Parts: sequence; structure tokens; C-alpha cells
Amino acid sequence: MSNSDCEHPISEENRCLKCGEESVTARWRLEDIDEENADKFWSDVASLGGLGDIRAICEIAAEANDEYKDQIKENSDPKNPSLPKLSMVGTSLVRIPFKKLWKDVISVSYFLAKEKGYLGDLEMWEEFVADQQKVNS
Ligand SMILES: [Zn+2]
Repeated sequence: MSNSDCEHPISEENRCLKCGEESVTARWRLEDIDEENADKFWSDVASLGGLGDIRAICEIAAEANDEYKDQIKENSDPKNPSLPKLSMVGTSLVRIPFKKLWKDVISVSYFLAKEKGYLGDLEMWEEFVADQQKVNS
């Protein structure tokens, strides 16, 4: 899609979420969406179409974030929660890095989001899920 075909429906930090181009005239700025205008935003976005099921995609991101938190809990060393617990892999006792858990959660949820029409790449998805962490914590 060329830039001229895109109406830049939503931007984040002045970058259009649909086409990735820089845009200061987007219809919605992610930064401006709050509880008061969220309903209007959702119905407007639904009517714009072509952006995927944004509401479902946001839910997937939030769930991915919860899933990661659960995994951290399950995989923490009870004696030292900042460290992954010891697990048997083959014949060795190892600590599976939290980073690995994160990557797994990201790749599974990215696939689900893609099915709902998510347009960004894996890197954007990782940032998006990481943002949920800040919002929810
Ligand atoms: Zn655009």
C-alpha cells in the first residue's frame, strides 16, 4: 500500500499504525484515547475496517502479558524469586532464562494476533505487549 492510499486512521507517536508512515494528521492518536472517548474510538475503528480486529488484538496482548506473569511465577526459584528455578533439560539441571519464556509468549501471541488481522511485525508486537505490562502494573 502506498502512502497516498492510507487515511492514517490511528497513529502512535506520530507514526501511522496501519501503514507505518509518519503522520501528524491521523484521525486518532493512541495517546488521546482514554476512558471517555474509548467507546467512540472502538466503534469508529470498527467502521474503518481493514485494521484487523483491534479489540481482540488488544485482548490477546493483555492475555499474553498475564500469561508471561504466570509463567514467571511458576518458573521462579522459590528460594530466590529473582532467578528462574532449576529444571531438568535432558540430563542437565538448568535455569531456563525468563527471556526465553518471554520470547515463547510473544511468538505464540503474535501468531494469534496475526490471525485477527494484526498488521505490525514481530518487533512491533513485542513492544505492544511490553507496553501492556506498564499499563497493568
Ligand atoms: Zn497510514
